[in-house]
Amino acid sequence: MNAVPALIAVVPVRDGILPAGGLESISEARGIALLIGSDCPAAVESARGVARRVFTVEATDQSPAILGRVAAEAIRRSLPDHSVVVPASPDGRDLAPHLALALGRPLHSGAIEIRADEVRLARQGGLAIAPVRVEGPFVATLQPGIRGVDFVADTTLEHAPLSISAPTTGHSVVSVEVRPPDASTMDLAEAPRIVGGGAGLDSDARFAMLAEVAASLDASMGVTRVITDRGWATHERQIGTTGVVVDPRLYIAFGISGAVQHTSGLGQPAHIISVNTDPHCPMMQMADLAIVADANEVLVALAHEVTPVSPS
Ligand SMILES: Cc1cc2nc3c(=O)[nH]c(=O)nc-3n(C[C@H](O)[C@H](O)[C@H](O)COP(=O)(O)OP(=O)(O)OC[C@H]3O[C@@H](n4cnc5c(N)ncnc54)[C@H](O)[C@@H]3O)c2cc1C
Repeated sequence: MNAVPALIAVVPVRDGILPAGGLESISEARGIALLIGSDCPAAVESARGVARRVFTVEATDQSPAILGRVAAEAIRRSLPDHSVVVPASPDGRDLAPHLALALGRPLHSGAIEIRADEVRLARQGGLAIAPVRVEGPFVATLQPGIRGVDFVADTTLEHAPLSISAPTTGHSVVSVEVRPPDASTMDLAEAPRIVGGGAGLDSDARFAMLAEVAASLDASMGVTRVITDRGWATHERQIGTTGVVVDPRLYIAFGISGAVQHTSGLGQPAHIISVNTDPHCPMMQMADLAIVADANEVLVALAHEVTPVSPS
């Protein structure tokens, strides 16, 4: 039987913060990683207990084409025979094709599992799995929230900073400003705060109100599958096994029962608030603050408190 391919995780870093799925990719590569971006030393610290051998490249230019070429050079200098796994976060999905191109390797997007001689890719929003045979080194993006993170007791970590200059491109691109993402439109997988709505909210209009309340709280809106099936929200807002896997610090659930297909896509929120008429449903059991009340009424009251123009 063939061995699982030797892997290195390539993880883009912004201001010392690892993206969604960063630690999982490092676990998949059995603790070997290249961190590339701004304030890598802080990111190295947050990978302690998961990573054991880390290369870093400090790069202020976050354009994926530049990062891809710099990361490719770093791979050539460090572990040229290793296949590469990149978290399928927004930055990772941007970086991976440029990295694959610069390394001259095939790219396998949306992997849920990497085996000895095949990569299994999620397709049709996770409803289908496509196995792809692999021969030789490749680049794969790994879906966040599926394999989990392997924490190790030994937190010793070998850190090797690499100095690689950004390649000259023949044309000059100047970064004028990097703006924080708009919470109402950002990728749900990256959202630090999510306000979720389920079948306990009684109309399409409630979800427009929910989106406004979310925006006022600098949060993103998420929903259950019942709501996307009704056409009250689009599929990229659906949290769960057949939707988006998220990992917010705060989750506020309005009228959500907490079915396993929903909660298994919820990550590990530090704080959960749930509003539900049923105090015994799973979402209320998971909550730090469980409010037994009509979610529609609580939403209206909250909207009066937080939105600039009070709803009628
Ligand atoms: C293969 C498969 C994949 C699936 N994938 C997903 C997925 O990705 N994501 C997902 O979310 N689901 C998914 N589901 C569906 C999942 O099983 C649940 O049906 C769904 O999550 C339930 O959504 P809900 O909590 O909005 O609705 P319900 O389960 O109907 O719960 C509604 C909740 O609202 C409460 N409620 C009712 N009225 C009020 C009120 N006035 N005020 C306050 N609370 C009230 C009820 O007590 C209840 O707890 C999947 C199912 C299958 C079979």
